[in-house]
Amino acid sequence: MASITLSSDPFASKTLPISSSSYCIQLGTSRISARALITGRIEQTHLRLSTELRRNQGFTLKASMGPPGLTEQLNNSKLDTLAEAEDECDIFNDLKDRFLSLKKNKYMKNPEQFESLAKAQEPKFMVIACADSRVCPSNVLGFQPGETFTIRNIANLVPPFVRGPTETNAALEFAVNTLQVENIFVIGHSCCGGIRALMSMQDDASARFIKNWVVIGKNARIKTEAAASNLSFDEQCSHCEKESINHSLLNLLTYPWIEQKVANGELMIHGGYYNFIDCSFEKWTLDYRGTKVDGNGRIATKNKAFWC
Ligand SMILES: [Zn+2]
Repeated sequence: MASITLSSDPFASKTLPISSSSYCIQLGTSRISARALITGRIEQTHLRLSTELRRNQGFTLKASMGPPGLTEQLNNSKLDTLAEAEDECDIFNDLKDRFLSLKKNKYMKNPEQFESLAKAQEPKFMVIACADSRVCPSNVLGFQPGETFTIRNIANLVPPFVRGPTETNAALEFAVNTLQVENIFVIGHSCCGGIRALMSMQDDASARFIKNWVVIGKNARIKTEAAASNLSFDEQCSHCEKESINHSLLNLLTYPWIEQKVANGELMIHGGYYNFIDCSFEKWTLDYRGTKVDGNGRIATKNKAFWC
């Protein structure tokens, strides 16, 4: 016979005998598996109850697999593990609710759309956006399933063709040559940590992963420092956030299969800048005829718009 001791008073405890075959305790209307409690595998309703009890009422748990009356305090590491499991389960409860809401409100109401998506995707957009948690393009611009082929990386950078294969240009190759998207949309944003890393990077920086990636935007930094040297560092970062988008648009044209389609009018290249401080959005389109790729590069734009 094993026992579990429960108490909401840290100085008092009450021992509940349980059989080794059941390992369950009853708290109000909730039934909790003792084995689950010990291993941290607890169903969500039990987790919530346990969390509330332990955090808000000074709940303590003692357990013993030995003779009745012999209890052993769980050590702090086990409680930490339990708390982590509870927190994780709380987070996934939210995700579960959101997923079921998607199923109810999108999938169940429009099964034909999902049936069509199961056969093929025909997105009109390829989006390159930052990995920043605040700037999900589907959230900001309302892209629906099947509307955009998306890749997100640090600082929404496009490496030049000569840099060789990366996840970003692999996605570009598939989107342009296989899916035959009609638009490539590079979207930057305010307060970009990747651009800040680029702007603060030392020339002799070691090739850590982030620095080795953001160095792709080095020309944007050079242009920013030349054009905005009188501004504060924060303002220079804001300037570079937009400069690097144009730099990425120029880099797109270094891919022969992209430039050919743009020259033929089969593909358009756009830049976008999402400012989440004042919730505004700038959009522009690369004007291929006025753009010069070689040398220092010079971008011409058209169809500018500002949404606020
Ligand atoms: Zn960013």
